[in-house]
Amino acid sequence: MKNSASEKKTGAVGLSSSVSSLKGVGAKKEEALASVGIRTVQDLLLWFPRKYLDRNLTENILLKQGESVTLILEILDSYLAHGRKTRLVVTAKTKNNEPVSLVFFKGVQYFRRVFHTGLLVAATGRLEYFRGFQLVHPDYEILSYGGNSELNTDDLPESIHVGRIIPLYPTTEALREEHLDSRGLRRLVFYSLETLKGKIPEILPKEVVSLRTFLDRESAFREIHFPSEEANLSKARTRFKYEELYYFNLLIEYKRSRRAKVPRILWPLPESQSAKEVVSKLPFQLTGDQTESLSKIGEWTRSDTPAAILLQGDVGSGKTLVALLTALRYTDNQVQVCMVAPTEILARQHYQTVLRFLGNMPFLGIELLVGKEPKKIRAEKLYRLKKAESYFVIGTHSLFQEDVEFKDLGLVVIDEQHKFGVEQRETLRAKGKNPDILAMTATPIPRTLCLTLYGDLELVTLKHKPAGRKPIQTRWFTDSRRNGVYNSIRKYVLQGRQCYIVYPLVEESEKSDLKSCIEAYETLQKDVFPEFSVGLLHGRLDAAEKDRVMNSFQKNEIQILVSTTVIEVGVDVPNASVMVIEHSDRFGISQLHQLRGRVGRGSHESFCILLSDSQVSEEAKVRIQALVDSEDGFLLSEIDLKLRGPGELLGVRQSGLPDFRIADLREDKDWIEISRDDAKKFGSIGDMEKNEISHRFAEGALLFSN
Ligand code: ADP
Ligand code: MG
Repeated sequence: MKNSASEKKTGAVGLSSSVSSLKGVGAKKEEALASVGIRTVQDLLLWFPRKYLDRNLTENILLKQGESVTLILEILDSYLAHGRKTRLVVTAKTKNNEPVSLVFFKGVQYFRRVFHTGLLVAATGRLEYFRGFQLVHPDYEILSYGGNSELNTDDLPESIHVGRIIPLYPTTEALREEHLDSRGLRRLVFYSLETLKGKIPEILPKEVVSLRTFLDRESAFREIHFPSEEANLSKARTRFKYEELYYFNLLIEYKRSRRAKVPRILWPLPESQSAKEVVSKLPFQLTGDQTESLSKIGEWTRSDTPAAILLQGDVGSGKTLVALLTALRYTDNQVQVCMVAPTEILARQHYQTVLRFLGNMPFLGIELLVGKEPKKIRAEKLYRLKKAESYFVIGTHSLFQEDVEFKDLGLVVIDEQHKFGVEQRETLRAKGKNPDILAMTATPIPRTLCLTLYGDLELVTLKHKPAGRKPIQTRWFTDSRRNGVYNSIRKYVLQGRQCYIVYPLVEESEKSDLKSCIEAYETLQKDVFPEFSVGLLHGRLDAAEKDRVMNSFQKNEIQILVSTTVIEVGVDVPNASVMVIEHSDRFGISQLHQLRGRVGRGSHESFCILLSDSQVSEEAKVRIQALVDSEDGFLLSEIDLKLRGPGELLGVRQSGLPDFRIADLREDKDWIEISRDDAKKFGSIGDMEKNEISHRFAEGALLFSN
């Protein structure tokens, strides 16, 4: 029995072996490890320390008073000392029999139980002198329980726990229950490194390792867990950051190559007569960026495999027109197009815009599909789409529903794509015949994030807004200036302009937020602006009411629109030139920028007024000031990234961010680009398919799953 067990444990253990093949890992530990995703030895080695402690032992304590020291102490006794504050004094001695006490003011009862006689601990802290040497609330770790404790059968060198820079590991309740606290994990990791000595192969191409002067993989594993010195630790960390990014980029390449094998089924026309007509009737010229992006999109969509394109452009840069002119190349060839927008207001607006641009051109079959429509009407629309009597459908989430079918769907346009999840985008794509995808986003995304998230897409950017737009003047006022703000609004409305007043609405306080928005609307209409027509817009209104309000605002029948953030994205009313944002300290930078983008869309001078209490947090100050200082969405997104990190910046929807273990999209900008170039140059897809590392990245890490 004993024999067979030890045989099992001494068999050839490799990186891909189960952790249960390591000595000391039985079923219970295996289960605990699995609960944090550690299944193989490699998983264990990739469970990087969260922090390190410099536990190089202090030799002569007499000389170290006032300094940080690490001591190995044997616990002698403990007692409560009652002074002005009760404290626990744990008496102990060093190996040289020097007396040192550990003092605790908090958790007295707990520590009293922990530090019993005979315990051997490593303690790190500032060495103080008060009737003898003492460490107050030291960082400590139990090295051995003394006596006949079963944990004392430690056959590993003590030096993995002290006398060096030691790793502290992230751990969980489940792990701790199986003695896999920092110390337990340290032993296990140490043991597996010993077991695998000379058996950890390099997985990066040799050229890369030498070009970038990286540690080899085995040394890097050793140094990241048990650093021999600071410099090597940082080398090891760099290597693993790179490794992660490299394989991530390889995955992107892999997706690209897989996509390149998908054949095109439906072909758009190289040129569209209708598009030409639309352009000839525009009251303005296309911007250089629009023309250029149209020609790039044209190229990509004529290739033999379907294109996946991300059209990025700051608010108001004119993406809708680019999408429409692209769409017409399909519809002119009887290929169907669907365009999805995140809100009903936006879908309706696009529908109106498209009708307006198309004017009275004999263009049949454009549908609007939103939720809550009479069944019969919806059924008729669906029938026309299925039979390809209609070629162009614009809609909301209702387009994702199963009953929406197409005969020949060749282009999927996704407006404000960051508002949708990967699955939703996939659902639409699956309705087509290997359709092209044109995803649009107005949230400028820092370049590094863009490369990571959308590296597998063709990117095209509208950098410049149409000519003739005046800069938006942004001001920050406290609530005490409210009356002045109202007077300004009055002045501009009397000149014929229109105004938005936006209230924050966050899910947690939705009810009270909505209430304050509605109350404000009532006061504004009754008491402040009785001479104007004030409108109210929020998500809870029924569709017809939203429609009525938006239409009236479009036509300037409503001059002042009080609204929640439902108008955040996309809404386009060029005559509106004043944006007032209430409680602006409650919004993120990108959201404020989006909201501000509702004005400055015409040739009028525009204003954005950010209101807040006189007391706002330091962070809120930075955010609001950034808006006041800059109108450059890309710059603002960089600031946002620094302040909030990638996850928050992109919002909940975009949880598609790869789950990097050690690489950091904020810190490792340079490596993102370097590893990307290297992966293209040295990587082979075979490496990727074979390597488990890349499997870690969720399939949803990218905009589309293949
Ligand atoms: P976004 O990129 O934020 O989606 P829109 O497509 O809504 O921007 O365009 C903003 C406004 O600019 C619209 O009123 C649109 O008609 C107008 N527009 C688009 N292209 C041009 C252009 N080349 N010159 C002037 N105005 C334009
Ligand atoms: Mg838009």
